Parts: sequence; structure tokens; C-alpha cells
Amino acid sequence: MFLAMACPAAQAPAVPDVARIVGSAQFREAKAFIRGDHERFVRELIALTEIPAPPFKEERRARAYLAMLEQHGLTDVERDEEGNVMGVRRGTGGGPMLAVLAHLDTVFPEGTSVKVRREGTRLLAPGVGDDTRGLALMLSIIRAMNAATFTTRADILFVGNVGEEGEGDLRGVKYLLRKGKYKDRIKQVIAIDGGEQGSITRGGVGSKRYRVAFKGPGGHSYGAFGLVNPAYAMAAAIARFSDVQVPASPKTTFNVGVVTGGTSVNSIPSAVSMDVDMRSESCAELAKVDAAFLAIVKSAVADENRARSTREGRIEADPTVIGERPCGETPMEAPILKTTAAVVQAFGLKPSYGFSSTDSNIPMSMGIPALTIGRGPGGRSHSPDEWTDVAPAGVAQSVEVALAIVLAVAG
Ligand SMILES: [Zn+2]
Repeated sequence: MFLAMACPAAQAPAVPDVARIVGSAQFREAKAFIRGDHERFVRELIALTEIPAPPFKEERRARAYLAMLEQHGLTDVERDEEGNVMGVRRGTGGGPMLAVLAHLDTVFPEGTSVKVRREGTRLLAPGVGDDTRGLALMLSIIRAMNAATFTTRADILFVGNVGEEGEGDLRGVKYLLRKGKYKDRIKQVIAIDGGEQGSITRGGVGSKRYRVAFKGPGGHSYGAFGLVNPAYAMAAAIARFSDVQVPASPKTTFNVGVVTGGTSVNSIPSAVSMDVDMRSESCAELAKVDAAFLAIVKSAVADENRARSTREGRIEADPTVIGERPCGETPMEAPILKTTAAVVQAFGLKPSYGFSSTDSNIPMSMGIPALTIGRGPGGRSHSPDEWTDVAPAGVAQSVEVALAIVLAVAG
């Protein structure tokens, strides 16, 4: 990277001729195919959306997706130990393996109605966009590649992965890249999990999450009055944490999202707990707010043990990490980013670059070039009235842009 920046003129062209790919007869053939494939895209999107896939319960949808991948001429179609399903489209050789990801899980708990409703060109249902549209898009891309007989240098690993949302904590992509059978072969990653076509997520917002249990001896609210109270320690910790100053840029945030505990209104609680979320675009800022939080918990506990009697026992706090998404960034000059931006521009769209928390965090944190690209128009994701637009022209553009990016990156 240093050399490339020091003498760009000496570098081989890292960005393929995107205009040639998009203007080729083969790509025109793919476009015609994509238009004819519209009904199937919508049918598969609805079918997949209506198979619930709550965090840690993606199995039914994973099996259905595995069966779909099997119909697409891939080799080594399989489900790994973590629950990811995948298959390889073989390249002609010589290129670094590209993994294309879309996540199987949704944020919605078991029992949520996932019946798809139609309103005009919109489909509405929890999860229909995030990321079920990404899953359906991936199948259309493979079909279009097959129909137009595209070959790539690199092998492409198409993956429907588990565990992107919430407490899933990126477990699917972590397994894929740290333990899975392709861990040493995957050299670039594209996740299809963004909004509009032009949006390119080039940075991973890191996060750290804790559940902190504050425990003490407990006692009668009247009879044992004066004993240490874990609720006071936790309240003090929350109040002090709320005063921590974080920078607006790089954007850094924190939240106490869940507080719970206690026995009854007339008992000094023996245990209370809180769930805390911290995020930052910057690894250094995330580490700072993390350290500040842990110090605050410690001091709030010490102060409560000083303020009231510990004759029946002391307050103790036990922060447990319940989520950790490493941060990372794909530099602006990385070939994968320049290539993707060139494709977006070739379609007359304006690329926009953002930071977010997606499956790309993991490869980015490992120094593997990675991006998250758009899946097309939609909105209200993570809400019960989530929607995605399936007007044929929009769908065709989503598939075409993603296809061109995959082709250009896979060489
Ligand atoms: Zn998503």
C-alpha cells in the first residue's frame, strides 16, 4: 500500500475497465435476462421473507436457501457448522477468492408475522428488505451470470450467512473468516446489505456491548435499611456514564438500553443489571469510551460500599461482554472501492461512502478488502412496516449494478 501511494504511475492498473464490462454484448444479454427473470426474483423474495429467521433461529430459512443455491450450478454447496450456507462459482483461476454475502437472519423475534403484503410496487413485511432482498438479489446475480455465460478469474463464494443482527454479533461471518474451510482463501468480500444502489459502506462501526450485573446482600427495605443497595450503585453508574463526552466526529455513541432487576418493592435488591451499547467509527475512540465506562462502574460500586453498611456483604459488579464488533476501514484508494465506485458511476449514479455496522466489519478488521453495497430501494428496516420496492425497472437496476460490481471485482 505504501508503495502504491508513493509511486502510483508505476502501479499496474488496479481498476478494471468497467465501461467495457457494462457496455459488452454479454452484459446486454445479462440485462435482457434480468428483465425476464423479474417474476422469479419477486417470488423468491416473498418465499424467503415468509420463512421466519429470528437471531439464532435461521435454520429453516438456511435450509430453504441451500436448496435454492443447489439449483444454480454452484459447486460445493453446503452448510457449515455455524449455520452459514454457501456454494462456489468456479473461476478460470488466478484471481483471489471473492466472497459475496447476504445475511439470513432478521431482527424480528419468533412469532412475528412475516406475511408479505403488497401495496402498488411495494412489498411490506418484517425483514423483506434487510436482508432478504439481498438474498434474492444474490440468486438473480448468479442466474444472470450463468445465462450470459460470464466467466471470472476468481472463484466466487456465494454465502447466505447467519448472525448479522443484534446479539448474533456477526457470528456467521466471524466463523467464515476465522474458522471456516475457506478462511485462508477469501481475499475480498462484498456484502449486499445496504440501502440505495449508490451507497457504499467502506467502514465498519465498531461496537462493544456489556451486561453488567450489580449484586449485593439484599434485605428488608425497612428492617435492613442502611445496607448497601446495588440499585444505587447502578443508578450512580448510569448517571455518571450519561455525562461522558464523546466526539461527534468520528461519530461515537453510547446507550443504556435495558435495566432490570430487584425482588419486590419492600426489598433491597440483591441483584440488578443493565445492558450497555457503545459504538464508534474510530477504534481509538471506542477504546476510550469503553475504558471510561468500566472505570465508572468501578467507582460507583466503591462509592456505594463506602456510603452504606457492608456488614451483610459488599456490592460487586460484573461486566460481561455480550457483543463485540471490531471496527475497520477499507481505504479510499483500495482497488475494490475504486472499482465499485466506477461501476456505480457507469450506471449514472453518484457513489456515497459511509460507515456502518455490517458483516464487512470482520474482514475490514482483518485487513481483507471489503465493502457493503446496496440492495435497492426500501425503507423502515427493523420495523414492522418494513418495505422494499419491486418496480421492475428498480429491481433490474439493483441486480445489474450488483452484478457489474461482482464481475468487476472478481476479474
Ligand atoms: Zn442487514
